[in-house]
Amino acid sequence: MSDRFKFRRRLRCDCGHECWERLDLNATPALSKLDEPCKCHTAVDIISGWEQCTGIKDKNGKLIYECDILKLYIKGKWRGICCVKWMHDEWMHTWQEVFDDKPEDSHRPPKKLWRNNDCSFEIIGNIHENGNLLDSAREQS
Ligand SMILES: [Zn+2]
Ligand SMILES: [Zn+2]
Repeated sequence: MSDRFKFRRRLRCDCGHECWERLDLNATPALSKLDEPCKCHTAVDIISGWEQCTGIKDKNGKLIYECDILKLYIKGKWRGICCVKWMHDEWMHTWQEVFDDKPEDSHRPPKKLWRNNDCSFEIIGNIHENGNLLDSAREQS
């Protein structure tokens, strides 16, 4: 799936402005562009590594990337918030549930990012912009 060859990384320039740099290895030549750069965009700091696209879309049709924070639904019911991880030894994306209707079971080990029809996801942020979403889910659970 060609979407798997898309990557992003988070940048911050001197004025404090942040944006994503996007890389598409499928384009020839490989294409790199910035999402909404500001006017100055000077002395840019790289604040994340390259994050890969899973090739999977959320329920609104948005592509899911590594480090995205997702709402997880099973059979249409909200079941938790998860963060997309990359397990390099298995070359697959996983998720970690941090909120559940069973509080004693709220820190499950990472699992394969499901693609079956019972399961759907909604992107609600990512760990760079909205890391507090994971903390607040832990506090609620
Ligand atoms: Zn700037
Ligand atoms: Zn900038």
